Amino acid sequence: MSCSTDLGFDREHIWHPYTSMRDPLPVYPVRRASGVHIELEDGRRLIDGMSSWWSVIHGYNHPVLNEAVERQLGAMSHVMFGGLTHEPAVRLAARLVEMTPEPLQKVFFSDSGSVSVEVAIKMALQYQHAAGRPERHRLLTVRSGYHGDTFAAMSVCDPVTGMHSLFSGTLPRQIFAEAPRCGFGEDCGEDCIEDFRRKIESHSHEIAAVIIEPVVQGAGGMRFYSPGYLSRVRELCDRHGVLLILDEIATGFGRTGRMFALEHAGVTPDIMCVGKALTGGYMTLAATLATSRVAEVISGGEPGVFMHGPTFMANPLACSVALASIGLLEAADWRKKVGDIERWLGEGLEPCRRLPAVADVRVLGAIGVVELDRPVDMATAQKLFVDRGVWVRPFGRLVYVMPPYIIAREEAEALTAAVCAVVEDATGDPGPGKVSESS
Ligand SMILES: *Cc1c(COP(=O)(O)O)cnc(C)c1O
Repeated sequence: MSCSTDLGFDREHIWHPYTSMRDPLPVYPVRRASGVHIELEDGRRLIDGMSSWWSVIHGYNHPVLNEAVERQLGAMSHVMFGGLTHEPAVRLAARLVEMTPEPLQKVFFSDSGSVSVEVAIKMALQYQHAAGRPERHRLLTVRSGYHGDTFAAMSVCDPVTGMHSLFSGTLPRQIFAEAPRCGFGEDCGEDCIEDFRRKIESHSHEIAAVIIEPVVQGAGGMRFYSPGYLSRVRELCDRHGVLLILDEIATGFGRTGRMFALEHAGVTPDIMCVGKALTGGYMTLAATLATSRVAEVISGGEPGVFMHGPTFMANPLACSVALASIGLLEAADWRKKVGDIERWLGEGLEPCRRLPAVADVRVLGAIGVVELDRPVDMATAQKLFVDRGVWVRPFGRLVYVMPPYIIAREEAEALTAAVCAVVEDATGDPGPGKVSESS
């Protein structure tokens, strides 16, 4: 079968995520995607292990989601949100308020996860300003985090993997505590929280908010940490008058086995971000939720309004498909499905543990991670995966999967078998070109 995508033009003119324009990595043209499969233009069908970066939780081309988009398209695809409102936005906001912890009552829609983080940070700064504490304008976070690629979001990403040195003249300088050391099943002892506690104590006069990914640190290292750590963070924020922002963009909508990862700890944030799986991966939409208190204080200060308003705020198509996606989650028994996937990934990835290059294997909910002791060459590994009929995109020392919740047992087994085989092939006896020393 022929390839209709002009790969030469792509290579010459189009930037892909985190790539060089001089020496871009190969890309695979996709013709269509349906269910758990991504179909390449050459006819190969790949089992999707990535959910297109955590977002496609119900699989591709879902009839219910398609129908929601088509129905909304017939009414309107977009109207501005300044001075106007519409049923999809109101219904979606009501659902989000209902699903999230009770104090979160106010919803700000935006167009991507990074923007929802910018909005959250801006809310925290406006809150402190309005509360008469303008000197509280910095953020405290932990290392190995990831919160997006725009500037304020980037300033709270891990300083090393986030390449802070490149942008040091422009990037706001935030405060970093060491990454949580206590693992998911462990208690959080005093030694684990100590660095965070020292940082919040010594800087509390200048900290507006703490921002952290609850329980799972995603793109910054795929680390799972103790819910007890999150509870301690909440206590310390309260003690020092610091707001808590939880970034649920990767973890929201069931991925960790709870609807939101904060439920593992029973913690309520002051501000919370959702995105990625919000629309079932159909289009870009994010939301920042805040407590009534945060909204009240902001609205009572100068200038009395919250200073943000994206052009495509609350896009009706995106809101409609988000409502349908949440409806699908609730109609299916997602807890059982994610629990099944957790078991399949655990069983399927366990054999990787004895491979010499494997440093750790961990699974939580529908997330499976194989951590290596050396970086894998992405282009080589990617080709090996495609040859085995699966779509997995490793980065650095991490090979990980987070499949759509609709994945069947045999497909999950094929996925994990491919991970074990590729890890073995790509790290066994490092022949030239197989393992790169750089990340
Ligand atoms: C992906 C991600 C973001 C950024 O979302 P975009 O939609 O890519 O801008 C922020 N925080 C976390 C935890 C993420 O995983």
